[in-house]
Amino acid sequence: MTDKKPRLGTLAVWAGEENKDGWQRATQVPVVHSVSYGYDDMDYWYDVALGKEAGHIYSRNTNPTVDVFEEKMRQLEGAEAATSFSTGMAAISNTLYALLEPGDRVVSIKDTYGGTNEIFTRFLPRLNIETELCSTTDHEAIEVEIAKGCTVLYLETPTNPTLKVVDITRLAKAGHEVGAIVIVDNTVATPINTNPLALGTDLVVHSATKYIGGHADALGGVLCGSKELVEKAFAYREINGATLHPMAAYLMIRGLKTLALRIERQNENAMRIARFLKSHPAVQDVFYPGLESHGHHEIAKKQMRGFGGMMSFFLDGDFDAVCEFLPRLKYAHIAANLGPVETVAGPPRTTSHVEVTAEQRAAMGIPESLIRYSAGIEHVDDLIADLDAALSML
Ligand SMILES: *Cc1c(COP(=O)(O)O)cnc(C)c1O
Repeated sequence: MTDKKPRLGTLAVWAGEENKDGWQRATQVPVVHSVSYGYDDMDYWYDVALGKEAGHIYSRNTNPTVDVFEEKMRQLEGAEAATSFSTGMAAISNTLYALLEPGDRVVSIKDTYGGTNEIFTRFLPRLNIETELCSTTDHEAIEVEIAKGCTVLYLETPTNPTLKVVDITRLAKAGHEVGAIVIVDNTVATPINTNPLALGTDLVVHSATKYIGGHADALGGVLCGSKELVEKAFAYREINGATLHPMAAYLMIRGLKTLALRIERQNENAMRIARFLKSHPAVQDVFYPGLESHGHHEIAKKQMRGFGGMMSFFLDGDFDAVCEFLPRLKYAHIAANLGPVETVAGPPRTTSHVEVTAEQRAAMGIPESLIRYSAGIEHVDDLIADLDAALSML
């Protein structure tokens, strides 16, 4: 290790992989499928159980392959600790259930991921935990709600599917003034573009299913932050059982090796595509934090090293136009996902906002002709030509 701190691209490749001797000198991280770990010395086993000695006992709790994934993410987010989960939703729900008690109050935004929104509106109220969902772009209104007191301030940026950006530093400061635990869902930005902990938050969660894995072939979630808070979430997950599978952990490790490369390419592709769409007559508007026309471009510039691979745009037409347009794309999966190496496109009506009505979507500023577009790593000229051809048929 040199005295200079390694950059993110280097950490993504090497972090957590120091234990080569223990793997019989395998250069790649083995997938340890073993459920349990054997001990001949009962005293030593007991010390491992008490956490006095390092080691594994049972894979619902800890596992060597899963450990490597968590360590990579810990270093990429510059955190004191990290723990993982079976999915992104498990990371989010387990963290909230671990930290909140009946009577607590949560402040969040209207534009969180659909599943997260349901935790706030359907499941937390059953535990007598109320969530105030603020207008995502109204920072003053959010600060007013925070000032009334809250246990958790839960943010997501950029949001899905309208790519709204919230000022992490500003709101984390407001949250800490009332002693709140500040959590950010960093799935869309990834640690390559934003490190929320460095901007003052206490915790950062990811759906590793998206950009972290990067190949749409494994589900996973991860939480990074202070040792004290991460251990609380780990203790909850360990018992409630939403454990990351070792094979999925391996796929995440392999995906992470190219994270910096993929994100740099996806940032570039998305920027060029957003500019192309913005100037196209068949496109009404484009939501992308990298565009100067984006309402919070200045905040995005301040807290993002790149503007990400995801955008949304709406056509000059109704849902019929979307139905006509999408199947014409040659280089896009028409699917409910984001972040993989392939381009993915889909309407919020059948993806992120399938559970709400057309009226609710309209109230949330999601036009029926909106298309979410997650730029892949393909050559950008091919993606633009593909979009151009599909748009010209409208
Ligand atoms: C997909 C997603 C989640 C949920 O992750 P899963 O791995 O599907 O459970 C949470 N937050 C954001 C922003 C997402 O895009």
